[in-house]
Amino acid sequence: MALLKRPNGTEDILPAASREWQALEQLLRTTADTYGFSEIRIPTFEQTELFCRGVGETTDVVQKEMYTVTARESTFTLRPEGTAGTIRAMLQNGLLNEALPQRVYYILSCFRHERPQAGRLREFHQFGVEMAGSPHPAADAEVIGLARQILERVGVHNVELHINSIGCPDCRKRYHEALRSYFMPHREELCETCQERLDKNPMRLLDCKSPVCGEIGKDAPVILDYLCEECSAHFEKLKALLTEQGIAFTVDPRIVRGLDYYTRTVFEFVTTDIGAQGTVCGGGRYDGLIAQLGGAPTPALGFGMGLERLLLTLHKQGTVLSEPKGCDIYIVPMGEAAADKAMLLTAQLRQEGICAQTDVMGRSLRAQMKYADKIGARYTMVLGDNELAQGEAVLKQMQSGEKLTVALDDKFVSRFSDIEIADRLAGAAAAL
Ligand code: ATP
Ligand code: MG
Repeated sequence: MALLKRPNGTEDILPAASREWQALEQLLRTTADTYGFSEIRIPTFEQTELFCRGVGETTDVVQKEMYTVTARESTFTLRPEGTAGTIRAMLQNGLLNEALPQRVYYILSCFRHERPQAGRLREFHQFGVEMAGSPHPAADAEVIGLARQILERVGVHNVELHINSIGCPDCRKRYHEALRSYFMPHREELCETCQERLDKNPMRLLDCKSPVCGEIGKDAPVILDYLCEECSAHFEKLKALLTEQGIAFTVDPRIVRGLDYYTRTVFEFVTTDIGAQGTVCGGGRYDGLIAQLGGAPTPALGFGMGLERLLLTLHKQGTVLSEPKGCDIYIVPMGEAAADKAMLLTAQLRQEGICAQTDVMGRSLRAQMKYADKIGARYTMVLGDNELAQGEAVLKQMQSGEKLTVALDDKFVSRFSDIEIADRLAGAAAAL
């Protein structure tokens, strides 16, 4: 029978790779903790209307990329991003009535029907944060600082911060007029979606991925020339704060971001190391979103970091986050009495947090040693009738071949633990 395959644009994260994901997730959680962010977990699917209202009717995400499913009489959409669902949850559960600002983070998968390629999947993972309640540029600097700190701690290089301000609805009114006058003479050359955008939301044209629209838009007016006084002051203050914190940035007046809810600050962390899909993290301020979703007007901001793209960049740069933990000790029993004792010892070792394994296949000594070698066991210990009778056995350090006789008494586990720790310390010292 033919084997079934995973859907296009999805990935299996196999045991060999999941250790690295765990290390990354651990780093994300502890870094977010130090900034006062707590985890929120939201549903995988939501009412379709949440994304139409929250992400925006004129975005690629809503127009082309949503996975909408009908089960019985109800229709839902798999989340294409985390912000809309997070704000929905904050509103529904009254989090915004508590002390502000509210700071939350999430690690979740998102679903978008895009053309799969390196760094562009149909199910991908995001680490994201949202901070609600502060209109002040200090909040923007803090959120950007958190993203920067994460990238630094992960050890990724060549990732640049690009920032821009796309103003408030007031500035945008004038800017939209300027864009319409600029694009109108080229109307017929634009892609179909952009022709529609020209009427509804001309700024979105600047985010079109079609090369023709990109070429036409290359000399389009930039939003920074249209900012009102308050938006301008907000942006200036943010730049000053980033500079003060030693966070390097480039102002890129062409960033508009792919989601409609942004106001004022937008930013991206970009690398050229993984080809065209180089935006590792994207975010910004969305002061209008909470009201748009039915809450009291509340300023807020956040970012989403693409974890596959982050790992892809790291790997391109030759960095791996963590080595597999593997097996600390493999006990090789010969005969039934020894097998029983081996079971007991491995259980005791595991209780102390030591990764211990023994035979569950009924294999010969030779085959067991081969297996221990394959799984990278750091120590092996053969247990036979002789060892049981004498109450001691030989520990073998697999890498060096060094041998050490140990008593099989009730101090065995703590003795092994000491040996193992000393061995790790010696290894770490040698690496220095
Ligand atoms: P892009 O311009 O690359 O399509 P986007 O503007 O659609 O990105 P956001 O919606 O801001 O991206 O999502 C935040 C982050 O999630 C992106 O910066 C990227 O790292 C990641 N991301 C977005 N779409 C995908 C995808 N299809 N596959 C993998 N990662 C993605
Ligand atoms: Mg996109």
